[in-house]
Amino acid sequence: MAMHAPLADTPLRRPASGHPSFRPVLVASERCKGCGLCIDVCVPRALALDALHVNAMGHHPVVLTDADACTSCAKCARMCPDAALSIFARPRGA
Ligand code: SF4
Ligand code: SF4
Repeated sequence: MAMHAPLADTPLRRPASGHPSFRPVLVASERCKGCGLCIDVCVPRALALDALHVNAMGHHPVVLTDADACTSCAKCARMCPDAALSIFARPRGA
């Protein structure tokens, strides 16, 4: 039987927490309708609408404005009706 290498998890291969480029929230900007529901539930106020960009649907998409303040709680992702947010957990203690 032929052996196959496991599929690489390319979409999840991200910089580790503590790395300057680590981002705990990934936004599918083209799917965001700028409703602001995620912003309202974010306790540390780490999200905002991007006033400088308009997506293909004509909306200002949400952006993570304070990666250090984000706790990876995932409230924003659970609230989003369009599943536009992915959350990457920080290792314990980070
Ligand atoms: S994961 Fe939590 S803290 Fe981070 S942006 Fe979403 S709601 Fe805010
Ligand atoms: S809840 Fe979803 S659609 Fe609404 S602003 Fe946030 S990411 Fe965009």
